[in-house]
Parts: sequence; C-alpha cells; structure tokens
Amino acid sequence: MIGPGATIGIIGGGQLGRMLAIAAANLGYRCHIFDPHENPCAADVAACVTRAAFDDLDALREFAGKVDIATYEFENLPVAALDVLGGKLQPSTRSLAIAQDRGREKAFIEGTGARVTPWRSISSIEELQSAVAELGTPIVLKTRCYGYDGKGQTWVRDPHEAEGAWKAIAQEPAIAEAAVDFVAEFSVIVTRWNDGRHAFWDSPENEHRGGILRRSTVPAGQPIAGQIAEAREAALRIAEALGHVGVLTVEFFATADGPLVNEIAPRVHNSGHWTIEGAVTSQFEQHIRALCDLPPGVTGLVRGHAEMENLIGDEIERWPELVAERGAHVHIYGKGEARPGRKMGHVTRVKR
Ligand code: AMP
Repeated sequence: MIGPGATIGIIGGGQLGRMLAIAAANLGYRCHIFDPHENPCAADVAACVTRAAFDDLDALREFAGKVDIATYEFENLPVAALDVLGGKLQPSTRSLAIAQDRGREKAFIEGTGARVTPWRSISSIEELQSAVAELGTPIVLKTRCYGYDGKGQTWVRDPHEAEGAWKAIAQEPAIAEAAVDFVAEFSVIVTRWNDGRHAFWDSPENEHRGGILRRSTVPAGQPIAGQIAEAREAALRIAEALGHVGVLTVEFFATADGPLVNEIAPRVHNSGHWTIEGAVTSQFEQHIRALCDLPPGVTGLVRGHAEMENLIGDEIERWPELVAERGAHVHIYGKGEARPGRKMGHVTRVKR
C-alpha cells in the first residue's frame, strides 16, 4: 500500500490530470505532472511539474526517480519511452499500447469474446475499396492512432466517396467500421485492483454530437439498462486480459442485438465526470485508490440521478448563469483559449 504523503506522477496535464490531482490531494498525496506544454491546466493544482517532451528519456528517468507511482491521463503517448517507468506505471504500457491503436484494440476486444461491429484494417485505397465492397456503405474510416473526439474520422456514405475519405485522413493507417445502427450509447466504467478486486459505477447513457460527448446521464434508460449485465461481463474480461490496474472505460453501442464495444480508454473518462458529485466515490478518487492499493470506495449513487453536461468551446461563456444556478456543480478547467471543440469545463446536476 502506498500511503498519504507519497507522490503520484501523472503523465499528461489536461483536465483529467487536474481532476486526478485534486482527488489525490484530498487523500493526502502530492502530484507531479509531466507535460510538454507551457501551462498545462493540471499544473495549477499539483505540487510539481516537469515540462518535457513525452519521449524525453532523461526527463522521464528523473521523473521516475521522484514519484512513488505514476499513471497517464491520455493515450497518445510513446509506449517505448514510457517503459522506462517500469512497474511504477499503472495501468501498464500494455493497456496503453492496445488502446492507442484502433486496429490492435479491435482485435484484442474480439479476442476476449466481446462483440464489435464488422471492421477491416486499411493501409491502401485498394484495401478501403475492398472494405466498402465487403461491408457496404455507410462505413466510418478512423485513423488507427492519434484520433480523439471525432478527429481522424470520416464517413464513406457511398462507394465513390472512398477516394476522398482516404485523402481526408491523409492516407494514414486506418480501420474501416460498418455503421452501427445503435439505439443509444453508454459506457461501463470499472476499476480493477492488482489482486483482481473490481468495482463498477452505474453505467451512464452518453449523447455525442459531432463525435464529441455532450451529456452523460445516470441511470441510463431502456434499452441500455437491459444490456448492462452483458456489457459489464465484457468490460471485466477486457480488464482482466489487460491485467489492468486503475480505471478502465469501455464505450458501448446499445443495439437491437445487444451491446457492441465501440472503444476502450485505459483511464478515467469524460463519461465518468458525474461521479464527482453523483457517486459516493468519484472515478478520480477510485483510480488513486487502485494505484495506491487502498480499499475500494463505495460507488453507489448519492441521490439517484445525475447528469453531466460538457462545456465545449465558447459554451464556457455561460459560466455566470451556471454558477448562479442553485445546486449546479460547475467545473472550469482553467484552459485559456476556448477553441471550437475544446473541452473547457462541465456542469453536473444531481437530483432525486
Ligand atoms: P469514437 O471516437 O470511435 O468513440 O467515435 C465517436 C462517436 O462517433 C461515437 O461515440 C458514435 O457516436 C460515432 N460512431 C463511431 N463509430 C461509429 C460506427 N461504427 N457506427 C455509428 N456511429 C459511430
């Protein structure tokens, strides 16, 4: 067990790192952020910051010497470089290596027995044309790496759009996925401890717009509620197969034929932000508990209903109205420029 007073390293200094650092501080830990940017928003709430490139081995070695345990808050990281952290890094680079490559991720998920939409690996226009012929249209073309919030994705709605789509993703290695006719989207957020103990939260129903999460609501409505047991089993099999330690998020499509896995995130997730006020233990605290091998916190709902709304781009300008709203929990990430599509904050409403 790693006790209070120890230093937790967090690779990545965005809003997830910021909320992890706040939760760690509540339990008496210090956080050390590692991020290449000038003013990462997590640095405002952390004890130490290293500003260095993610592949700077000397800086990573020095960071490893200063922290008792380390974690990461996003996936676009160089796996080989992070290996210098060895066993101090949790979840390990195995979870990272699989989650950061959509092709490897899909194959791995299928290998655990969970279902995904039919897909093909694409590395040329000919392969894309064959995928269009085999899967039909519409299909969605997604770059294998470096995609997030709908970036690196484009739809092929008709076979003659294939060439344009291939150019639109800059001919990067990709996967093509058959369109899922889903009735709703939801996520299973699970925390796993090194000894196999695990805990779930209620699954949120997630609404996306333009590939970006807009809103998460618990409890989820039907038909999601009827698919959660199967989805939890799949998520746990994935966590076990990864040997994952910490929070793991598995995003699902609820379809007429049951749950299909969309993707996994080896970390705390936007669809779990409601747990800060809506659950007895937040995803951020639980991640710290699992890393430090503290006992699992209770994950039940505080009041029976919670809804989290993202504040994206200039929506952050609504803050005066939101801070005046009775009972609304406003989170502003302190990120500076409100570029379109940038997650600037969120608001959670907890009700009976
Ligand atoms: P992703 O980055 O893979 O999570 O995709 C972002 C969002 O795009 C998802 O949450 C869905 O709303 C939508 N989407 C992605 N893949 C598919 C698919 N194969 N069929 C239908 N919608 C999709």
